[in-house]
Formats: sequence, structure tokens, C-alpha cells
Amino acid sequence: MEHQTALEHPIFKTIQQSAKKLDVQAFVIGGYVRDFLLQRGNAKDIDIVCVGSGIALAKEVAARLPGKQEVKFFKNFGTAMLHHQGIELEFVGARKESYDRNSRKPIVEDGSLEDDQNRRDFTINAMAFSLNPDSFGKLIDPFNGMHDLEQKTIRTPLAPGITYSDDPLRMMRAIRFATQLDFTIEKDSLQAITDHNHRIKIISKERIVDEVHKILASKKPSKGFALLYKTGLLPMIFPELDALRGIDEIDGQTHKDNFWHTLEVVDNIAQTTDNLWLRWAALLHDIGKAPTKRFDKKNGWTFHAHEFVGSKMVYKLFKRLKMPLNDKMKFVQKMVLMSSRPVILSEDHVTDSAVRRLVFDAGDFVEDLMTLCEADITTKNPKKQRRYLKNFKEVRRKIVEVEERDRIRNFQPPVSGEEIMKTFDLKPSREIGIIKEAIKEAILAGEIPNEYAAAKDFMLRQGIKIGLTPVSQ
Ligand code: ATP
Ligand code: MG
Repeated sequence: MEHQTALEHPIFKTIQQSAKKLDVQAFVIGGYVRDFLLQRGNAKDIDIVCVGSGIALAKEVAARLPGKQEVKFFKNFGTAMLHHQGIELEFVGARKESYDRNSRKPIVEDGSLEDDQNRRDFTINAMAFSLNPDSFGKLIDPFNGMHDLEQKTIRTPLAPGITYSDDPLRMMRAIRFATQLDFTIEKDSLQAITDHNHRIKIISKERIVDEVHKILASKKPSKGFALLYKTGLLPMIFPELDALRGIDEIDGQTHKDNFWHTLEVVDNIAQTTDNLWLRWAALLHDIGKAPTKRFDKKNGWTFHAHEFVGSKMVYKLFKRLKMPLNDKMKFVQKMVLMSSRPVILSEDHVTDSAVRRLVFDAGDFVEDLMTLCEADITTKNPKKQRRYLKNFKEVRRKIVEVEERDRIRNFQPPVSGEEIMKTFDLKPSREIGIIKEAIKEAILAGEIPNEYAAAKDFMLRQGIKIGLTPVSQ
């Protein structure tokens, strides 16, 4: 089969001419081929393999492109990278790989195209299009990846036991592709991943997290987490989530399985936001429930302060997985910490002051918090579901209303500490803090509007109340 339409971009002609000049065979391979055949839209990274030096080919291509080209070389890997019109081109010489047991770094030798296809992770990732003049656009598919694409199957070119044990990152990649593409991992592969799951320990945390990001960014992330569970990888990567699994029963009382509930929440939020960190928040919103779970006769099952405990666990989890401990982490912590606030609020009559407090505490993230809470509705009772959604809608409406009137978001005290000091002729002291806090509380409670004149008047009365005397002006 010829696939010239895949190679319409002029860059492929340039590569062809360069390969011809150097008298080497060149092919497009891997993700670009797969995504073209799946019609997933043209990939932004293109992998070129040539039977010869990838570095020399990259140099030749760069010389033929207009303008000055910056080529990055990775001599140790024998690869070269260049950027052209928003496309990232990676060049590599065809190679044969053999593995040492204790690392995922293979011993590499020059090889044929076939050797190079053998070292690929999945049949759907081993397909290549020829860039050679006599066969331009020809699909070279030794493992019938085409069939697996049609059958939506993840399969390894070689024996799965060897493939996954050699490079355990492939376990994560298998699960990630299954989730991203909505494919099924073929049964021997699934078994091999399960058998070799402990090998994941030789993979760096960063690589694992990269794959988790891609799972979370998928349309239905639950598929990936269910596979992590099924293959036994879950407790090795996310013991906190694994601990949420299961239903206990005491005196005929049960609680929900918080692992499967969490996955539903993640799928729900994937429908309403692409914000990766909000998706992380959904994944972690209940992790405090395992360590806080208690039963007593009076209250049944409780998870007292699980939001607080959970937000502390977010830090530890990010740290363990070597994720950045930056504002993204703080955002996830904040979401987890506040995850029940709108729920409590919507259960009662929604008062303005409760909404003001919510906006004050959540600041700019109040909409994200509402999105999380809406995703958290997983009841199968349609009546309840409608009621909860309606209540949250009411909270959202009140947020807008209160916002317009009181501007609580990013609250700035309408009367400054300096003015309080001047008014009562005070040095910096506790009293100033007390008065400021009283003003803030009065605004949040709705006793006074968030305005200067009202706050000034309130400040005077407060000061007098605690025994201060205003200096006459
Ligand atoms: P995407 O870029 O969408 O994540 P991709 O298939 O292009 O998907 P890359 O990580 O860019 O994935 O890798 C490019 C190609 O290199 C893959 O298609 C595959 O053929 C090969 N490859 C990548 N990682 C491995 C691995 N760990 N083991 C074997 N082959 C791999
Ligand atoms: Mg790629």
C-alpha cells in the first residue's frame, strides 16, 4: 500500500533528497505513522530512522532547509533533533538493542530497519513509511500493526515477557496508549505486565509521571487507572489510591468504595475541563479518606478531617513522585482541602455570607472548586443527582451575584492598618490586627458592605469598643 498523502509535507522530499545524496535508506517510523493511519491529525513530532548515521542525515537535511538551522546532537544516543515550522524532527540510525537486567539502558549496535522495528514497543508503533525514491510512501509493517490498529489492540512485536522486562517503561506506555487511543491490551501482554510489575522500580519517577499525565489528559482516564490496578502497578505508584479500595461493613453499615468513586469523578471532570491540575485534584480529592476512616455506633462511617489530611498527603505524594512542589501543587492542595465546602454549603439554604466566605477562601479558584464538586456527584439516584446539580447551580449564581456586589475575590481590606494607627494614634500593635480582622469578618458576614466609608465607620466603633480613643481631627 502506498501512503503518499502522509508524506505531503515538503520536509519529506527534503529528507528523501538528503538520504539519496548520502546513499542511505530513510523511513518515517512510530507515532507519526500510527497517528496518520488513525487519522488523529498530523503529529507534531516525526521520527526518522535511517540505515546509517542519523546525525549525518540530520546535518544534510538542515543544510538544505532555508535559513539557519539549529541541530541538537545527542552523540551518546546517536540521535539528532531539529525544529522546522513547528515540527520536531528526530533522526536516528537504525539499531539493534540488547538489554542488561538491571537497567533500561540497552547495549546498542548498528542494525537494519528490521532490527530497528524489532526494538519498538508495540506493533502499532513499529510501522514505517519508506522515504526512498523507489518505494516512497510504502508502508513497511512486519508485525501486522495495521491489523492491530483496526482491532484496537496493543501488542508487542516480540515476546511480551521480554519486551516489558527489558524496559518496564513500556508497561506504563501500554497502559497509556490503551487509555489515550481506547485500545485493549492483548491478553499475553496484560499477563506479562502483571508478572513483571515489580520491575517498575527501575524506572525514574519523572518518566512514570509523564505517562500518568498522559493518562489523566485522556478522554476517559479511569481506563488507565483501572489497568494500573488490574496489573498490580497501582500500589507501587499510588499506594494512597490503592488504600481507597474496598467496602467495609460493620453492623450492616457500609461506605462507598472510594477508589472506584474517585475514578468516576476523574472521568466526570475530564468531560468539563482540560486543566491537568484540576484533573489531578479530582484524582486525589479523597486520598485522606483511607487514614481517617472510623466507625462508631452513633455516627456510622466517618472520615473526619479527611480534606485536611488529604491536602497534607498531596505534598508527600508530589514529593515522592518528584513532581514540582510549586504553585500547581499548592493549587491541588487547596482543591483537596476545600473539596467539601460547596457541598456543605449547598445542603442548606445558600446564604450570602457563606458564599462570601467561600469566595474569600477560594479566591480565583472558586470556579475550579465548583467544577470539582460538580464532578464529585456520582450518585446513581437521578433525583438526588438533579437536586445536587441544581444546588450547585444556585451556589454558582450566588457567587456571581456576591462578586458583583462585594468584590470578595482577592480581598483587600478597605481600611488600611496605617489608617487605623493614625485614627487611634497607635504604634504597630495587636489592636490593629484585631480591628482589621473584625472589619473583614463584618464584611464577610454581611454586616457592612465592602466599602471604605462603611468600613471606616465600623473601625471607629470597634476601636472605641475595645477602649481606644480616636484622636480628634
Ligand atoms: P506520542 O509522541 O504520541 O507519545 P509516540 O509513539 O510517538 O507517541 P514517542 O515517545 O514519541 O511515542 O516515541 C516514538 C517512537 O519510539 C514510538 O512510536 C516507538 O516506536 C518508539 N519508542 C518509544 N519509546 C519506546 C520504548 N520505551 N521502547 C520501545 N520503543 C519505544
Ligand atoms: Mg512521538
